[in-house]
Amino acid sequence: MQIVSDIQAILGGFRVTLAHMLRRPVTIQYPEQKRIPYPRFRARIVLTRDPDGGERCVACYLCSAACPVDCISMQADEREDGRRYAAWFRINFSRCIFCGLCAEACPTMAIQMTPDYEICTRDIMDLVYEKEDLLIDGCGKDASYNFYSHAGIGVTQPRGAGLEESKPVDVRSLMP
Ligand code: SF4
Ligand code: SF4
Repeated sequence: MQIVSDIQAILGGFRVTLAHMLRRPVTIQYPEQKRIPYPRFRARIVLTRDPDGGERCVACYLCSAACPVDCISMQADEREDGRRYAAWFRINFSRCIFCGLCAEACPTMAIQMTPDYEICTRDIMDLVYEKEDLLIDGCGKDASYNFYSHAGIGVTQPRGAGLEESKPVDVRSLMP
């Protein structure tokens, strides 16, 4: 009968409502209560350092090229020993969508995402972070990785002395 199915439908709706009323609330009273994100949560970006304290960023522009919203800009410079670095490095967090593509693209692990999501501000200009705001003292997620130990050819050590580097080839030995 139609009336029976109507009553069943109404009771079914009430059952769902009552079940939700008796559940523990999931609302978090931010900012008094703060949820701890997972370690891989993608929020504030930092520039990290090598284990020896040097800047990891070699100003290769890969992160800037990978960024879908063009919010990374920098100027490359070179030290006397040939090691490159970013003379200035800027991220506009008002445009950043925290996609993580910059960190994926970085060959030196310089640019990394952190779980720090509390970077909102009233003045949008405060969301333009310069190198001084981004560069931290630590290594971030991989404390042992040193790009120049693997690929710092002729910069921090002689050619062929890197951990995974082959000895230099004398091109004359390849002549027919
Ligand atoms: S997280 Fe995405 S949007 Fe933000 S700076 Fe990196 S690449 Fe650009
Ligand atoms: S942060 Fe990484 S990808 Fe970006 S310029 Fe520096 S070394 Fe290159």
